[in-house]
Amino acid sequence: MKECLFCKIIKGEIPCDKVYEDETVYAFKDINPKAPVHLLVIPKKHYPTLNDLPDEEMEIIAHIHCVMKKLALEFGVAESGYRVLANINKEGGQVVYHVHYHLIGGRQLRA
Ligand code: AMP
Ligand code: ZN
Repeated sequence: MKECLFCKIIKGEIPCDKVYEDETVYAFKDINPKAPVHLLVIPKKHYPTLNDLPDEEMEIIAHIHCVMKKLALEFGVAESGYRVLANINKEGGQVVYHVHYHLIGGRQLRA
């Protein structure tokens, strides 16, 4: 996926503020934060949306949640509270078509 922004970030072709990396997952600060803590957690493997993730590869989502749990602790929002969300396709508000979870916290969030 040569033209995918997040694939380029993973490859180091576009700079980012990386907060976590392992064999299958990468996480970095959102460039346009909606709250004091706003991280993006993504699989290294390219899937445009969650719709494209085969059932047999769904363990990556559990792993992403494990990473988000650790990052919430590390960034000091585990107890105060935070939100994780994934936007899917146009009406879901998805702008970057590489599966990603937002981890947002550090202020009172509204519905
Ligand atoms: P979504 O609307 O769910 O597709 O979210 C895409 C997110 O990617 C937005 O919150 C953007 O602020 C964020 N974003 C776009 N470009 C970059 C970048 N170069 N580095 C970090 N975050 C980015
Ligand atoms: Zn990608």
